[in-house]
Amino acid sequence: MTRRLGSGALVIATHNAGKLKEIGALLNPYGVKCLSAGSLGLPEPAETGTTFVQNALIKARAAAAASGLPALADDSGLAVAALDGRPGVYTADWAERQWFEGAPGRDWYLAMGKVEGLLQAQGPQVSRTAAFHCVLAIAWPDDAYAVYEGQAHGTLVWPPRGSRGFGYDPVFVPQHGDQTFGEMEPEAKHGISHRADAFAKLVAEQFGG
Ligand code: IMP
Repeated sequence: MTRRLGSGALVIATHNAGKLKEIGALLNPYGVKCLSAGSLGLPEPAETGTTFVQNALIKARAAAAASGLPALADDSGLAVAALDGRPGVYTADWAERQWFEGAPGRDWYLAMGKVEGLLQAQGPQVSRTAAFHCVLAIAWPDDAYAVYEGQAHGTLVWPPRGSRGFGYDPVFVPQHGDQTFGEMEPEAKHGISHRADAFAKLVAEQFGG
């Protein structure tokens, strides 16, 4: 049987203030006291896994071991069917500029263009099917763990459309829609996103009746 969180403290294993706020708001109604890995001074482990599940577990386990508390981590990215699931766990890396591409940092237009270039190289009939994935992993200090996987299925469009959201949102049109995630109202995206799907599964198992 899966271990369940009580109403005690939970370390959110992210150093991203936006994610911390979003996750804290989602868990607040269940009486969970969220602490950030940053505020506890926990180190960020290297994400050496080759799957979203491995990377989420690496982060959750490291935070649980260092804090002695249960810890929650997430890992997410875009998997494109015609690219055998790439960029996958390397989704953020594909946005890293190389020395010849200008100042170091992340460039999402560059990343979306890399995906598009690889698709177009396969010809006009290429499948444009893609899915965002989100894995949430909870680890307890005694090695117990639970994993929840969410997906948002859709297709990729070009050129990018919309200035809302972040990352690959402007090229992703979710199933049953015609707007990209970058064009949609944030509330509408949050209702159908891969994160919403993973969170619904976590809440059902961890806090359900
Ligand atoms: P990480 O989970 O923080 O490692 O993020 C992986 C990368 O996936 C992000 O940097 C984004 O580029 C991409 N990504 C994850 N979720 C979304 C989303 O909802 N919209 C657009 N891009 C996303």
